[in-house]
Amino acid sequence: MTEEPFQFFSLTALRTTRPSPSFVRVTFGGDDVARLASGGRDQRVKLFLPRPGQNAPVMPGPDDGHWWAAWRALDPDVRGVMRTYTVRDLRREPQELDIDFAVHEVAPGSDEGPATRWALNAGSGDRVGVLAPIHEENVAYDFRPPDGTDWILLTGDESALPAVAGILESLPPGTPAHVWIALQHASDRWELSTKADAHLTWLVQDESAPATEEAIRAADLPDGTPYAWLAGESATVKAVRRHLVGELGFDRAAVRFTGYWRRGTSEDELLRSGEDA
Ligand SMILES: Cc1cc2nc3c(=O)[nH]c(=O)nc-3n(C[C@H](O)[C@H](O)[C@H](O)COP(=O)(O)OP(=O)(O)OC[C@H]3O[C@@H](n4cnc5c(N)ncnc54)[C@H](O)[C@@H]3O)c2cc1C
Repeated sequence: MTEEPFQFFSLTALRTTRPSPSFVRVTFGGDDVARLASGGRDQRVKLFLPRPGQNAPVMPGPDDGHWWAAWRALDPDVRGVMRTYTVRDLRREPQELDIDFAVHEVAPGSDEGPATRWALNAGSGDRVGVLAPIHEENVAYDFRPPDGTDWILLTGDESALPAVAGILESLPPGTPAHVWIALQHASDRWELSTKADAHLTWLVQDESAPATEEAIRAADLPDGTPYAWLAGESATVKAVRRHLVGELGFDRAAVRFTGYWRRGTSEDELLRSGEDA
């Protein structure tokens, strides 16, 4: 039997910190951390959270076959709440995994999503599950600039800031990088560490910053072959991609784009609409 490249692991929250007011960093430990791998700096994992009344999420077992079919076969009212997050850091000594949760505000009167709620209340000893790769080379990361790339363009919002921070940390010294991050609040501007030649623009909504595609339209971009990585709210990602491929003539294959969330829609609703399509 071939080994499944993605497997379920159990993690235990060790501690939480606040990198800035709208973020909770949860550091996880547990014996399983040693077995999971992380490849690119936008490595995504599926997180499984317990439902009210459970002290650990209900997940498929190791012999239940392909994860998607196994998870779907579980009772939807009982199985763990599934959400997608980025590995912010994976350390080996000690074995620890960090995930940065943007603790978003939702419309007045409605509750925040379950992952946000979980992160805001997380404490030492809380248990979650994660579906993660067992090999560094895996299909669950996208930032892969090809040889011949002259410069990098990155866009995101709070949900993509953990990935953008990791990508910037990983860029070779001197790489030209143009980066736009949309934030609701100026207090969430992080000190980003990079050896790249990075031109970083924070688009703070509280300060009436322009939309990301407008900011790019007004920018002086370098010549040469670009590679773009776009993530964040779906409509914004689409608008930026349209601008890059349409008006600026970027090669489609050189624009990696992922909607990380959709306004007014939970991840469960997104999954259901994908299944119905
Ligand atoms: C590949 C990938 C990697 C991701 N990595 C991260 C990460 O590292 N950190 C992170 O914080 N998020 C990340 N996200 C986004 C995260 O999965 C979503 O924000 C998710 O919807 C949060 O779940 P929830 O239970 O809090 O809200 P849900 O129950 O899914 O949604 C509840 C409500 O909140 C709104 N909402 C959801 N997310 C946001 C947001 N960011 N800002 C404002 N409103 C929102 C929804 O539109 C909905 O109305 C990633 C997504 C993907 C696809």
